[in-house]
Parts: sequence; C-alpha cells; structure tokens
Amino acid sequence: MSSYDVDLFVIGAGSAGVRLARMAAGLGAKVAIAEDRYMGGTCVNVGCVPKKLFVYASHVAEDLHDAKGFGWQNDGDLRFDWTTLRDNKNAEIQRLNGIYRNLLTNAGVEILEGRATFTSAHTLHINGTSISARHIAITTGSWPFVPQFPGSEKAITSNELFYLEQLPASAVVLGGGYIAVEMAGILNGLGVETTLVYRGDLFLRGFDEEVRLFVKQEIEKKGIKLRFNDNIAAIEGEKGRFTVQMESGMSLDSGLVLAATGRSPHVDDLGLEDLAIAQRSNGEIIVNEHYQTSIEHIFALGDVTGGAQLTPVALAEGTYLAHYLFAECAPQPVNYSLIPTAVFCQPNIGTVGLSEQQARASGANIDVYASEFRALKHTLSGSDERTLMKLIVDRDTDKVLGAHMVGAEAGEIIQGVAVAMQAGARKGDFDRTIGIHPTAAEEFVTMRSPRTQNV
Ligand code: NDP
Repeated sequence: MSSYDVDLFVIGAGSAGVRLARMAAGLGAKVAIAEDRYMGGTCVNVGCVPKKLFVYASHVAEDLHDAKGFGWQNDGDLRFDWTTLRDNKNAEIQRLNGIYRNLLTNAGVEILEGRATFTSAHTLHINGTSISARHIAITTGSWPFVPQFPGSEKAITSNELFYLEQLPASAVVLGGGYIAVEMAGILNGLGVETTLVYRGDLFLRGFDEEVRLFVKQEIEKKGIKLRFNDNIAAIEGEKGRFTVQMESGMSLDSGLVLAATGRSPHVDDLGLEDLAIAQRSNGEIIVNEHYQTSIEHIFALGDVTGGAQLTPVALAEGTYLAHYLFAECAPQPVNYSLIPTAVFCQPNIGTVGLSEQQARASGANIDVYASEFRALKHTLSGSDERTLMKLIVDRDTDKVLGAHMVGAEAGEIIQGVAVAMQAGARKGDFDRTIGIHPTAAEEFVTMRSPRTQNV
C-alpha cells in the first residue's frame, strides 16, 4: 500500500500530461492532474487545432477565386466576418476541452483546477490543500517568448491572436519560424496587409534551403511582404495604430504586431528552485532517457524539456512514461528518428529526414531528385501557385534520407512517406511503387533522374 495520496501527480493537462495521466490510470495507478488554465494545453487551445481551423478559413478566399475558372460565378456580396470565425472556433475548442475533461474523468483521473507548486519533493500545494505523490510529472509545456525592446509590451503573441476583438487592416509579424510563417499566411489570407520581419537572410532556418526559397517565392506571390535581415527596434503609438521602427531605420504603420519569436519552458511558480531540479540556463528541465529529472521520482516531458516542440512527440513521451512507471514490461523508447513535420503556411511544407544541406554535411554521397510543377487544379483555376517535391537519396545504399514537399496538403502526403522511410525505404522501393493518378503525391514515385547540378 502506498503511503502517498496518489501514485502519480501530473502538473499540466496539455498533450503530454493528459496522455500520461490517462494511460497511467488505465494501467491501474491512482492519478491526479492539475491544470490552471485550459484542458488540452497549447495544442488544443492556442496552437495546432485553432491554427489549422484558421488556415482553412484563410484559404477560402483563394478557393473562391479559383472557383471562377471551374465555372462557378460568385457575384453576390460575400464578406468575411472575423467574429463568426473566432466564435465558431471558440465553440469547437470548448467542445474539445469537454472531451479532454471526460477522457480524464472516465479514466479515473482526479482533476484539480489551479496551479500546483512543490512544497517538498513529494508534496504539492494546490488551491489551499496539500497532496502527496509517489511520482510527479511536470508537463507544463512552453510559453511564447517575446524579446525586449522599447514598446515590446505592445506586441501580442499567438496566444492573443486567437481571441482578437477585431481583425486589423495591417499586421507586422516578427520571426521566421513555424508560427511566424503560419500566422502570416492566415492574416494575409483573411485580407490583412501582412509584413513578416525576420532577422536572418532567409526564414525557416533548419529546413531544406530549396524549400525555404520556394516558400519565399510562393508566399510573396500571395501578397505577404517579407523583410529579411531586419528586426524591430521599437513599437510606438497606441493600440491599433502602431508605428514599428525597424533597426534598418525604416518604419511601418501597423494595426497589430505579432511576436512569433520562439517559446520558452513554462516553469514559473512551480517551486523548482527550492528542490534544485537541474535546469538549463533557459529554464528547460534536464531529463534522462526515462524523462527522469535530477530527482529520481520527478519526471518532466514535452515542451518543458526543450525537445522537439511537437504534440505527437509529447504524446509519445506520455505513453512511454505511463508504461515505464506502471506497466509490467519495459516500454520501447520513443523513436526520435525521422520525425515528420508540417508547416501550415500556404502552400504547406511537409518534410521528413535530412535536408540536402544536412545530408551533404553528414558526408553522405547523395543524389537529389526534385520536381517542380503547377498542380493540375491550377491549369483551370488560373492560380500561379507551384508545387515542389524533393527526395534526398544516399547513392551508395539507395536509402531515402529526406523527403520534402511544398504544396497543397503536403503534411497529409509526407505522413505516408515518413512511414516508408521509417521502414528503411530505398529509392528503388519508391520506383517500384505504382503511382496514384492524377495526384501530386505520385510525383514521389515517378522522379527518375537525379539532378545533375547543385541548386
Ligand atoms: P521557432 O523556434 O520555430 O522560431 C522562432 C523564430 O523567432 C526564429 O525565426 C528566430 O530566429 C526568431 N527569433 C528568436 N529570437 C528572436 C529575437 N530576439 N529577435 C528576433 N527574432 C527572434 O519558434 P515559433 O515561435 O515559430 O514556434 C515554436 C515552436 O512551436 C516551433 O519550433 C515548433 O516546434 C512548434 N510549432 C509547431 C508547429 C507545427 O508543427 N506546424 C506550428 C507552430 C509551432 P532565428 O531563426 O534567427 O533563430
């Protein structure tokens, strides 16, 4: 019999925490979970889910434009109403919050609403009560980071963008990562005059260079203004009428400034300092291969540990830890190789494995297969959007090292390619696979000749 109130106390009901709590309870553990904000965490409330809904919404303008070439006339008074989109999205998120709550309750997990703080290595304080736990898991996720400059407090983050009272006429988006390009695409598609400001030469650092250049070309065609090699020096003016002073000396008038400049581990007010749990200088909690912190029975997983900040990774870590702590057989470690990912800019990026640059840097002898084309749909739609597909192949082993796509539904397509690569697919396997016609995806199995020149 345990002398603790619960076998496992989970701090934070986001992707990692909910998965861990549910699975641990399913394996027979007595589990409590604390959440001080919203069920489902960033992904459900201010991340993946509402973002994807907004991407769909913002793409409708293009779909309506494309429709004309297919004979659909649209002469009526068609307007976009932000409050309808925002409120419909809010209703869907509330529905999901309820589902998450039910999933936990039905699994037998006790939900405690409030911020849990460590009072000792085995006890937590929440809402005026104390609870002891044999194991504790910190799954508090991450929080938007905003660099400090004069007026930086006037910038909003993705958290607030999802709940804007009104959509501005113009916006400046600061950053060159996932959130910046996705949000710039959403705002632009919804009719906001959008400028993306990035401090480096080219955004999406870490992605294949050809992909980055291709996305630049495509999103500029759609009307997003790009300012690279520049940064915001100051934001002046009042809400809704800002003047954004750039380091280069130029200035931009803007109704909104969105800082999409990375996310920091969300570790405030947990009382970690008193326990001396080992953290990196930026606050990330240091864990071993079992997600164990420097204190044996305290675990941390998901964004708070500074790994890949992706929901499916957090879910996999939650599943692992539940089994590690409460299952009879030792679980398989989480497989961090070949994590596929998508950026929901418009058109989307889907990618898995090595970029051409990473493959070359690894010393591999590579062949690059690439195809760039206008998708069949756009022969009638009139859109000048183009699609890019690219395979990086090890010439010595024929193994596919990387697959990249920019185009409609790239994320949907790359998921299947990732399965093939996880199974060790060779280029010969792609070549032996019959295509599905007419699709863009078939291009991945019909690229026959390697490129002879570096791009
Ligand atoms: P990222 O780390 O992807 O990008 C941050 C961007 O901000 C980089 O371009 C960085 O520049 C820039 N930046 C950082 N500090 C400063 C500064 N002081 N001044 C100016 N620019 C700065 O973070 P995001 O916020 O876009 O997203 C956080 C994470 O969330 C992502 O990494 C991703 O893991 C996850 N995510 C995943 C999504 C998906 O799967 N589709 C969607 C959204 C988020 P530099 O490149 O020079 O460092």
